[in-house]
Amino acid sequence: MVKIGLQIKANLEHIEELYTSHPDYTFSLKLKCLNCGESSEKWHGITESETFQTKIGKSETHYLAKCKLCGRENSLDIIEGSNDKYTKEDQERFKTIVIFDCRGIEPVDFSPGEGWIAKAEESGKVFNDVDLNEKEWVDYDEKLKESVGVYDLESQFIKIK
Ligand SMILES: [Zn+2]
Repeated sequence: MVKIGLQIKANLEHIEELYTSHPDYTFSLKLKCLNCGESSEKWHGITESETFQTKIGKSETHYLAKCKLCGRENSLDIIEGSNDKYTKEDQERFKTIVIFDCRGIEPVDFSPGEGWIAKAEESGKVFNDVDLNEKEWVDYDEKLKESVGVYDLESQFIKIK
């Protein structure tokens, strides 16, 4: 069991906070099997509000699949309460926005996709349908009379001790 944090870094233009629509946001991850080293090109969707029943006991998990190569059953969970916001103060550095509890697998790539929420500074306007598929997003805040945006989104994984 390994805890892995997903960190993001971005430039925010007139945006106070950027966060996911947790618990319904779907993290798109590429996963690597730690038993055989197989890492598939397929994206897997992991959503905190969706769980799978494990075969043993009453336990539930957010991701459960057999590795196509070695057949081992691997699972992954979003740690409850680990979600965090990326704020203006966090700019130019990586910040952990969620922690995964990994059993037999590790995430190797992340696609931010849709389902982000951005809150504008001063006006407080909330943009509910921020699409970060292109790793950037731009809109206009009529109250601020300024364009708002998220640019140069990067991500990385870190092991949490
Ligand atoms: Zn495997």
